[in-house]
Amino acid sequence: MSSALSKLRQAYHLFKDVDFNQLSHLASKVDLGAVMKAVGKMDETQLQGLVKMLGASSGHKHKELPPIEGDFYHLSHTLTEEQRVLQLKVRAFMENQIKPLINRYWLKGEFPFEIIPQLAELNICGVTYDGYGCPHLPFLMEGILAMEMARVDASIATFFGVQSGLAMGSIYLLGSETQKQEWLPGMQKLKTIGAFGLTEPEVGSGAAGGLTTTAKRRGDTWVLNGQKKWIGNATFADVIIIWARDLDDNQVKGFLLRKGTPGFDVEKIEDKMALRIVQNGLITLRNCEIKESDRLQNANSFKDTARVLQMTRAGVAWEAVGCARGAYESALAYTRERKQFGKPIASFQLIQNHLVEMLSNLTAMQTMVFRLSQLQDEGKLTDEHASIAKVFCTLRTRDIVSRAREVMGGNGILLQYDVARFVADAEAIYSYEGTKEINSLIVGRAITGFSAFV
Ligand SMILES: Cc1cc2nc3c(=O)[nH]c(=O)nc-3n(C[C@H](O)[C@H](O)[C@H](O)COP(=O)(O)OP(=O)(O)OC[C@H]3O[C@@H](n4cnc5c(N)ncnc54)[C@H](O)[C@@H]3O)c2cc1C
Repeated sequence: MSSALSKLRQAYHLFKDVDFNQLSHLASKVDLGAVMKAVGKMDETQLQGLVKMLGASSGHKHKELPPIEGDFYHLSHTLTEEQRVLQLKVRAFMENQIKPLINRYWLKGEFPFEIIPQLAELNICGVTYDGYGCPHLPFLMEGILAMEMARVDASIATFFGVQSGLAMGSIYLLGSETQKQEWLPGMQKLKTIGAFGLTEPEVGSGAAGGLTTTAKRRGDTWVLNGQKKWIGNATFADVIIIWARDLDDNQVKGFLLRKGTPGFDVEKIEDKMALRIVQNGLITLRNCEIKESDRLQNANSFKDTARVLQMTRAGVAWEAVGCARGAYESALAYTRERKQFGKPIASFQLIQNHLVEMLSNLTAMQTMVFRLSQLQDEGKLTDEHASIAKVFCTLRTRDIVSRAREVMGGNGILLQYDVARFVADAEAIYSYEGTKEINSLIVGRAITGFSAFV
């Protein structure tokens, strides 16, 4: 009985993928009845041999392929079970809620506001902060979650980075207790949206010494004048951190600019080729009055601004890793499906070479940011640690996304295959939060002892 069952099972394996057209064609060439009779007489070993032989002759068609996994060194296995659960929860959110709608919004250049309550439900905003409803997790988790978001979409990761890192981080690191109590709990729940205004139309890389936006104190009020460019979330934010130079002591100070303040105007920057979902604004401040109580009480110079940037720059390196990982995994999946010359293109040596170079860089990047976050968790992170990771990861990401696009041929430039979006978005990640040159100069100064900025 068991032998009959086994023969049935083997016969099923032999014929499960044969279509009827093929079968009738075969019947015209060979005596199928005789073949069946011969198969019926075979013992177990002979049958297994036949199945093996047929499997081999049909190429890779029935081959069980390995899982698609961008974490080649199993770095996520070092996480605790709780941390791993959270990682997979965010992954599921990104794949199930974000992925199906993202290309549509990217094309329109609009933000999917309907996802904000679902994102809030994940309870990951202000990941590392202590108190104010924040989860108070290690920096490593902040990085992992940034990677998971960018692995599906870098715009959503950027929106989150501005809210949770730049805006909340400025208040958490540099605000008074009263300011933290007022803003952070609402921002943690994404009921209050924040933005971070440092860059200006004429001052980007040189922000440390050259901000032209001014602040003049008059009694209990500050009067702000100037412009800010590229400010993410600015078109709809409830509060924007504005960095301005105090006309009296020439130091950079931070201000909490509330939505609707008279003299504040914002214009959406249109026609971007990258991160099209992120709503970047050009802000104009004309005699904008802000109360002294809305000045960040512990921001006294650009050195304080740099503390926020150091923290978020590490997060941007992780975002680059996510973008690269999304592109690599999409490309690997595609090359296993796509056939040319009668074979999956993944079986060609030159394609495998691209894939292995992508994975080598991706693995190096992941290993680097893991250690970066460990340093951050040990309280040993320096500006140059964050900068070298930002330089290396964004540079390698550009290479990975372009190879991903390459192995996909023409389809690599179609939005529906996702990689085109990663290619475009990698360009913005490469430039924001300090360009490659500026971050290299930070590292260069640290290792040589000479500043080469100007
Ligand atoms: C999508 C996006 C989102 C952004 N979001 C925000 C935001 O939310 N808030 C915010 O404040 N800003 C934001 N920015 C601004 C971003 O941080 C700046 O674009 C970046 O710092 C570079 O400034 P810049 O564009 O003015 O370029 P520039 O400073 O004009 O630089 C142009 C080129 O000159 C090079 N360069 C400059 N100085 C030197 C030097 N000393 N030596 C060698 N090379 C040099 C640069 O590396 C670059 O290649 C965003 C930008 C983008 C593209």
